[in-house]
Amino acid sequence: MKKTALYPGSFDPVTKGHIDIIRRSAALFDRLIIGIFKNSSKNRAWFSDEEKCQMIQEILEKENIKAEIKVFNGLLVDFIKEEKVNILVRGLRALSDYEYELQFTLTNKTLAKSDFETIFLSASREYLYLSSSLVKEIAQNQGDLKMFVPKNVEERMIEKVKQMRI
Ligand code: ADP
Repeated sequence: MKKTALYPGSFDPVTKGHIDIIRRSAALFDRLIIGIFKNSSKNRAWFSDEEKCQMIQEILEKENIKAEIKVFNGLLVDFIKEEKVNILVRGLRALSDYEYELQFTLTNKTLAKSDFETIFLSASREYLYLSSSLVKEIAQNQGDLKMFVPKNVEERMIEKVKQMRI
């Protein structure tokens, strides 16, 4: 049976840590969906859903990774059922992720409307402490982003910071 995996997140913006998980998951499963949680009006995301999709699409093409990108609304378990997802992929960085990820997984398991398993991939050493919020902090202070995000994301972040200052 073909295995469909889903890697969900906010990806505001996508970092090299996320891309590492995407690349490794695409190699493991027959079909990979990158699920972007739709921005709610309440959250203060830097990037729109369209911008997030665009940035990830450019990276997939450049790196030749086979995956689909979908923005979704509502409960994750509904999306899992709708897309016939077999495996939910999450990334684990430091120990601090563990508690949140366990809560995330167990809650979704409790709400589950279809059968799926969660798989945790450990972050690669160089991205262990990398997060979207850290990257945004660096961008706001004109730090070097090269180690943390690909060039297309770096350019967009610099542009965003400029707009924020106007
Ligand atoms: P959230 O869902 O809290 O908004 P993100 O969108 O940043 O989090 O991340 C989605 C998933 O990617 C989570 O499972 C998170 O633990 C994982 N992740 C984030 N950054 C990294 C990284 N540097 N290395 C590995 N996994 C990561």
